[in-house]
Amino acid sequence: MKTDRTEKSEAPKRVGRRTREATLHGIPIAPGVAIGAVYDTSEPPAEAPRRTIAPGAAEEERGRLAAAVALSRKQVTKLKNRLSILPEEAQEELEPLLDAYGLMLRDSRLLRGARRRIAEELLAAETAVQDEAEAIAATILAARDDDKAGLRRRAGEVREIARRLTRNLTATPFRSLKDVPQGAILVAEELTPADAALLDPTRIAGVATDEGGADGHTAIMLRALGIPSVLGCHGLSEAARRGDEAVLDGGLGTVVLRPGAEALETGRAALAAYAKEKARLAKLRRLPSITLDGEEVELQANLEIPAELPLIAQAGAQGIGLLRTEFLFMNREDLPDEDAQFEAYSQIVGPLAGDGVTIRVLDWGGEKDIQALADGVETYHSGPNPALGLRGVRMLLKRPELLEAQFAAILRVATQGPVRVLLPMVTVPEEVAQAREIYERVARRLRRKGTPLPERLPPLGVMIETPGAALAADAIALEADFFAIGTNDLAMYTLAVDRAETEVAHLYDPLHPAVLRLVQFATEAALRLRMPVSVCGEMAGNPRLVPLLLGLGLRTLSMNASAIPRVKQMVRSLKIDDCARFARRVMEQSDPKRIQELVMEFGEAAA
Ligand code: PEP
Ligand code: MG
Repeated sequence: MKTDRTEKSEAPKRVGRRTREATLHGIPIAPGVAIGAVYDTSEPPAEAPRRTIAPGAAEEERGRLAAAVALSRKQVTKLKNRLSILPEEAQEELEPLLDAYGLMLRDSRLLRGARRRIAEELLAAETAVQDEAEAIAATILAARDDDKAGLRRRAGEVREIARRLTRNLTATPFRSLKDVPQGAILVAEELTPADAALLDPTRIAGVATDEGGADGHTAIMLRALGIPSVLGCHGLSEAARRGDEAVLDGGLGTVVLRPGAEALETGRAALAAYAKEKARLAKLRRLPSITLDGEEVELQANLEIPAELPLIAQAGAQGIGLLRTEFLFMNREDLPDEDAQFEAYSQIVGPLAGDGVTIRVLDWGGEKDIQALADGVETYHSGPNPALGLRGVRMLLKRPELLEAQFAAILRVATQGPVRVLLPMVTVPEEVAQAREIYERVARRLRRKGTPLPERLPPLGVMIETPGAALAADAIALEADFFAIGTNDLAMYTLAVDRAETEVAHLYDPLHPAVLRLVQFATEAALRLRMPVSVCGEMAGNPRLVPLLLGLGLRTLSMNASAIPRVKQMVRSLKIDDCARFARRVMEQSDPKRIQELVMEFGEAAA
């Protein structure tokens, strides 16, 4: 038999893998239960169309291949690092397999052959990888060996690594999303916010991924869509196979693959209980959001994509406290111009019939990578720490034409209903002053052209989402008309923990005393000036945290629409005096764990 030695050594024995019931634990993201067949996006052969390259492009193509190999290696290492949390028998089966993948991604006939095909046959990297993998698989399968199953397995492994490389080379793992069968549970290694925005909640019963953090934008998008979801579920995509039955509980953060009769029964009971609870909460829609001692608390919705509008009405939101305009810029290759933005905002402001809409100007950067912008501002964004780079208002001030178009579209829509304008990622008062100058200049230009605008310009507010902004809130307040406290980024930047990174998800804690002190400082700075202040981070949608936020003086909370009924239920069970006393007690603590305990105890008692 003539096979490459490397490939031969890559033939671990695998028995019984992916056949037994397996329960995997991740981060609970969006509540709800799904029972359905797994649709694993990493399963399909990621066959890219055959492509050739120009004679001078071979070097560049090899560079693409090298980058895809590096990424694939990183993915395999990550999977290996996380093996320890899988059941023992799964570890035993997966470890040699991942070792073999690792070897194949170092120096193997597959890589050597692909590189050669690029140079000699002028093939695109993905075509070269596919061709070489098929050639190797054919050689393996033609070998004279009695262990036919072993040969098939080894050929399969070469193809598997080729698929991973192709996926990474073409970076289109979710092109197949339109084929997801009705009622399926989508399983992926990772889902970007832009991918999540494409999901159809009427089609997809649940989502589970290996990667992701609790307050990343993918999580926010999934909550907004109301799809039961679990992220950060290590080892999932390796353990799952397309077509496997699964029970996903987005409230508990569990995925049971290939459930036995008992697990299925538990899942069905949870599904029924969840539906009953939803119907009960729906009855709260018409009731006022008012504490037992008569204090009104305004509950607004965050909106990430227009498809959520009906949900917002159903939830009984008092307007939109945060319209993330990134949706307009995602999944397209060009930038929306002023008219396109005006149309999009009209479709949101108009139907809200007088309820306010707070429109945040583009918060591009960090994990919200938008291709059309990336092409134009690549040199700025590709620094080592995109989250600390040209994000939010920083990028807009560098590209004022983007800000001008967005301000103009918002100002034009302001005649259709009350709007406010919000600046993301501010750290110094000067940024607000500069943005205001542009804002007023755009308004003057529109007026000169005879465009109808409201007599008083809509308020211009600031996201308080960095420790710098929170600690300078008194100075920033002098430039701003209102504050919206973004606890997601505030926690990320305060604790130096990426909100979307699975590896450090255990350190991400909006209840850390450092974060709470910043929230308190910023809130008090606003209240002293009688300036409107709200919280629009994910914290606001967690009913257990509501007593603390009210106790700190907040009266406006903006959250994903589906959280409103539960938060309202909590508001209606509280007295403001109790909340204030409770907040004082919490703010005396310096131990994050103790704060967690106090919050849980108080929330439990109030619920
Ligand atoms: C926040 O950071 O808390 C926030 C609301 O903004 P985003 O989640 O869009 O970054
Ligand atoms: Mg933010």
